[in-house]
Amino acid sequence: MKIKAEYLWIDGQQPTAELRNKTKILDVTEGTEIKNYIVPEWGFDGSSTEQAPGNDSDRVLRPIRVYSDPIRGEPHVIVLNEVFHPNGEPHSSNTRFNLHKMVEKHVNKDFLFGIEQEYTLFKDDNPLGWPTENEPAPQGRYYCATGTGKVAGREIVEKHLDSCLLAEIGITGINAEVMLGQWEYQIGTSDPLKAADDLWVARYLMERIAEDYDVEVSLAAKPRKGDWNGTGAHTNFSTIEMREGKVDFENMITKLGRKHEEHISVYGTGIEERLTGKHETCRYDQFKGGISDRGASIRTPWQVHRDGKGYLEDRRPCADMDPYQVLSKIIKTVSED
Ligand code: ADP
Ligand code: MN
Ligand code: MN
Ligand code: MN
Repeated sequence: MKIKAEYLWIDGQQPTAELRNKTKILDVTEGTEIKNYIVPEWGFDGSSTEQAPGNDSDRVLRPIRVYSDPIRGEPHVIVLNEVFHPNGEPHSSNTRFNLHKMVEKHVNKDFLFGIEQEYTLFKDDNPLGWPTENEPAPQGRYYCATGTGKVAGREIVEKHLDSCLLAEIGITGINAEVMLGQWEYQIGTSDPLKAADDLWVARYLMERIAEDYDVEVSLAAKPRKGDWNGTGAHTNFSTIEMREGKVDFENMITKLGRKHEEHISVYGTGIEERLTGKHETCRYDQFKGGISDRGASIRTPWQVHRDGKGYLEDRRPCADMDPYQVLSKIIKTVSED
């Protein structure tokens, strides 16, 4: 039986890494449970992905998670990989390797994450639904809206949701966002590696589906200057102690504030343009906790404050952030002194 396996990996582009993918045909005995099948390692030309020089270009793809491919359908699969050097060393772009170590180090904390991935759909250099000249009516009526003129791209959004569900990605919701053409999906609540892996595969599926519509998917932090919301990836997190109400949330926020610059440095490209203090953000060079406060860096949801247990929302990460780096940083800051 021939199975199409789409191998995905994250490239070495700076400052924003992107997904790469290519197809391998696997010849599998009829009746094999593909999820139990050991997917083979593979390689690629790292000199074309900013992961190797031309005279030493081979890089290794090591499969780490296999998904059903909702685009090609059963029995085809998507294979997410980590990148290694031929000598077995993890490549510097392999940020998952570090997250894996960080998760193992603090496994007793039982971290859970929920990531809100915002994005903007574009056609011919314009956000979807925008007039070709001028701007649409000011923002205010687009968030969680339905109706022509109020949302654009619904068909893509719905296909993406169905595809994520078929692939067993832990997607838990979608909504239209504050700017016309801007949307969000939520990944998790899941364990750190599952949440981060799922986010990368969900990003791939979004790109793949939008391709069929000649629509571009932008993860730019501030796709339109002026009085328009930026595009973020709020990262919600909890430990077992937080969920059981055994920590001082104020202390934890203070601790996060002490490492603010370190966090900002891995929270995505163009963060200064997005975290301005306007449009539901706290300025990138300031740090503030707040209850129900969407102008805070870290928001305590009102019911978490009321009950003294639950999760916190880090509102700082930008849409194009690398979840492996962001989750590593949060786990480290929350767990270590
Ligand atoms: P909002 O848009 O109001 O900020 P969303 O409903 O879009 O909120 O996102 C809330 C996120 O919080 C979801 O991704 C969800 O998975 C996450 N979340 C809820 N409970 C927990 C928890 N205990 N630990 C970690 N994340 C959580
Ligand atoms: Mn949200
Ligand atoms: Mn949002
Ligand atoms: Mn949010």
